[in-house]
Amino acid sequence: MSDTPALLPVEEARARILGLCTPLPPEWVPVDDALGRALAEDVLARRTLPPWDNSAMDGYAVRTADLLGPLPTRLSVGETVFAGKLPLREVLPGTCARIMTGAPLPSGADAVVMRERTRSVPPEQANDAVNDAVDILEAPGPGQFIRPRGEDAREGDVLLRRGTPLGIPELGLLWAQGMASVPVPRRPRVAVLSTGDELCRVDEPPGGRIVDTNAPALALAVRRAGGVPTLLGIARDTPEAVQEALARTDGFDVVLTSAGVSVGDHDFVKDALEALGVVQHFWRVAIKPGKPLVVGQRGAALFLGLPGNPTSSLVTFELFVRPALRRLLGLEDVEPARVPGRLEGRLAKAPGLAHFVRVTSTWRAGELWVKPLGTQTSGALRSASAASHLLHFPREQSSLTDGSHVELIPLSWVA
Ligand code: AMP
Ligand code: MG
Repeated sequence: MSDTPALLPVEEARARILGLCTPLPPEWVPVDDALGRALAEDVLARRTLPPWDNSAMDGYAVRTADLLGPLPTRLSVGETVFAGKLPLREVLPGTCARIMTGAPLPSGADAVVMRERTRSVPPEQANDAVNDAVDILEAPGPGQFIRPRGEDAREGDVLLRRGTPLGIPELGLLWAQGMASVPVPRRPRVAVLSTGDELCRVDEPPGGRIVDTNAPALALAVRRAGGVPTLLGIARDTPEAVQEALARTDGFDVVLTSAGVSVGDHDFVKDALEALGVVQHFWRVAIKPGKPLVVGQRGAALFLGLPGNPTSSLVTFELFVRPALRRLLGLEDVEPARVPGRLEGRLAKAPGLAHFVRVTSTWRAGELWVKPLGTQTSGALRSASAASHLLHFPREQSSLTDGSHVELIPLSWVA
């Protein structure tokens, strides 16, 4: 292929796109809305948590010094400490306290013995002075089953650093601090435009046209990646129509178009971008599917012209758009995830383009074995449905033998 040397390798194309993305300005949002986003600032702990040493088990709070002799050792039980109550008494030598998980440790105790490692003493066998006693069957080390004060957070310390991706446990840490809102980069606003005379909306009678599936699919992919999509509709295949549609993109952080970026007679997207003053950074990447990707910028807004074939647009979304949206959301680790796997069957291609092969996968003997789907044409959505991963068949390689170790990208579009 004569134009192959001019095509950008996938890694370089992604690096260039990410180089155009900086986290968006922060907004304070309710903690629930921060899921999947990144902190825009360090967050300091306001509370020390847990506020006191507490028990990690249902059992007995003991003094380890009482348990250095022969076992079992009989201790008299003072009080019972429940979670949500404060202990009233010190644990004195020769005694212990019955304690429940999460209850504060009484003073004097320095370990907890789990209930399963004790034997309760019937009241009639306990000595005359006390009618509640327990036989301890093990000698714990100091600190056993004690959750120390401040294990989760210490007042004034950095609880979570800027850039930390907020998963569910992180939100739990924030709630535990009594925080109602947190600063995160605002969500990217993403315009989605389809182009093509052959397209109609799903609610229109097709009359010889095909339904525009790219725009609604990309909008969902945008939302899943944390952005806020707006559908701009379908532009007809004239330079004026495409330009007119793209002129309505002020205020968006990212503009996604699909189709019209190839070398066909009706491929007007590049020209329209140019007419609107979008600086084009590159066009075409050494990949299949998805080669005709075009990338430009106007002001801070990123313009990504995705190919029209439905599978190509989704694959380029995974490889380029999702990482860009995640970077705008302030996340640092934005490269597509990769997992190792083994190829079942063989693959061959000409060198020059990296192929992203849609595969199904099954675990066998501790490894993920993948099988390419029968259809790999980029126009057929069937080759994207049922796929669990993209297999990266590197640009310079021409064959992968049966059992090859391969790099797999888990797909974000799966159910
Ligand atoms: P193009 O890049 O304009 O040549 O389009 C490539 C292929 O993708 C053509 O077969 C188009 O009909 C198809 N296509 C383009 N846009 C869409 C869309 N929004 N939804 C579904 N198919 C599309
Ligand atoms: Mg077209």
